[in-house]
Amino acid sequence: MKFVIAQLQHETNTFSPVPTPWESFGGKGGPPLGADAYRAIKGTRLPMAAFLDLAEAEGAEIVTPFAAWANPSGPVDGEAFDRFCEILCDEVAKGCDAIFLDLHGAMVVADRTDDGEGTLLERVRWVAPNTPIAVSLDLHANVTDAIVRNATVIAGYKTYPHVDQYEAGHLAGSILLRALKGEVKPVMAWGNRPLLAHTLKQNTNEGPNKAFTDAAREAEREGLLAASAFGGFQQADMAEAGISAITVSDGNVTAAQAACDRILDVAWARKEEFIYRGEPLDQALSRAKRLAEEQGGPILLLDHADNCASGANQDTMYVLREALKLGLTDIAVGPTRDPEAVAAMIAAGVGATVTLDIGGKMDMPAIGRKGEPLRLTGVVRAITDGEYTVTGPQFTGMRCYMGRTAVLDTGAAEIVVIERNQEPWDRAVFTSVGIDPTRKRFLLLKSRMYFRPVFLPIAKGMVFCDAPGVGTSDWTAFEYRKLRRPIYPLDEFPEHR
Ligand SMILES: [Zn+2]
Repeated sequence: MKFVIAQLQHETNTFSPVPTPWESFGGKGGPPLGADAYRAIKGTRLPMAAFLDLAEAEGAEIVTPFAAWANPSGPVDGEAFDRFCEILCDEVAKGCDAIFLDLHGAMVVADRTDDGEGTLLERVRWVAPNTPIAVSLDLHANVTDAIVRNATVIAGYKTYPHVDQYEAGHLAGSILLRALKGEVKPVMAWGNRPLLAHTLKQNTNEGPNKAFTDAAREAEREGLLAASAFGGFQQADMAEAGISAITVSDGNVTAAQAACDRILDVAWARKEEFIYRGEPLDQALSRAKRLAEEQGGPILLLDHADNCASGANQDTMYVLREALKLGLTDIAVGPTRDPEAVAAMIAAGVGATVTLDIGGKMDMPAIGRKGEPLRLTGVVRAITDGEYTVTGPQFTGMRCYMGRTAVLDTGAAEIVVIERNQEPWDRAVFTSVGIDPTRKRFLLLKSRMYFRPVFLPIAKGMVFCDAPGVGTSDWTAFEYRKLRRPIYPLDEFPEHR
């Protein structure tokens, strides 16, 4: 048997000014291809690693065209997408017995399609109409008809923060293997509800998204082959943005559809709880200051609107500016992207005192903002290559590349400045540059959810800091043109009048 196994992961924020060329899909100039793709993924906790393990247990011949993962950002470059489609379809056209794809489900492609995964799957199906396809999707997928129609079996992550990526791949892959052996006949149903859930309310350990994903687990316990609840990705102007569900039954499409509706009803009944309501920035930071006085540190300051895992610039300075104005000190500022500032600090060297405009280098036309740098004077404390391997519970084992990295110490704040966007999803964003996050009073993190498994265990408190950014939780900041309407909470629904 011969299996084609690949990964293509991008969560597209259609409001983001950050470009997504071919080079974004890999640490060093592009995605690993062929044997390099295998080496990059094997042994990790990613869905593609589960596909590889399953294939090897079957003794199958394995082909890995690419393992491509890019940080969330603006729409994927059209030619880069064409290249992925060509490489994959060429490989499939040579002949194979099954295809396993580790996809995200919220990829938008510039000048091509709002439904990147649906289009990719359509093309693969066109080349190999009868070859079964297993797909794993992120919990933030914006599921479309084309995705479901062109796959044989789909399973999504059931956790956010995502700590079950391997399990989702394993579930989808093992159902496909059983189907190949004639043991089951997977049939799928899917549906959605008009609800733009806030990412901040999609934590699967509590509240409405716990209930939503628990409902999917319950459907599996009751006999479905797989059931997945998707919170969706809302910083995307496409018709299907919002919550959805996919169910896989052994031959009973009616049962699959009924379970899918039951799962979605759980989320819809609790729709108000999926909405985040914030507080003014100065109020939030004053509260953080009091918290630190009462309980000590570190207190987490969460600049969630500039969270690069939602496609934001990771270079806005609103929260740090306000924090310094209010007199907060002993702050470690998580990765802030500014290649120019990094170059200036490297030129000055470790120990030099420099005055720099940090951050604010990118305009954000989608929310009507120009970039606003913050002028700071400080000492260059460290310069590194920005590379580290994740040892924490999410993306475990992944090699990360922040680009060249420098630390500016202003006295009140130590700022980690990097060249390539990177979420603070591992303590190494600090420890790799010599900062011990456990000893700081405040940790300013441009993060929304990934900080949880890593930084909550060492934190004395956390405060969400609402500031402008293209990852904002204020849906009214965006001009949605393609989104289906009406949709909650942008529009009222009859039962609310
Ligand atoms: Zn996600």
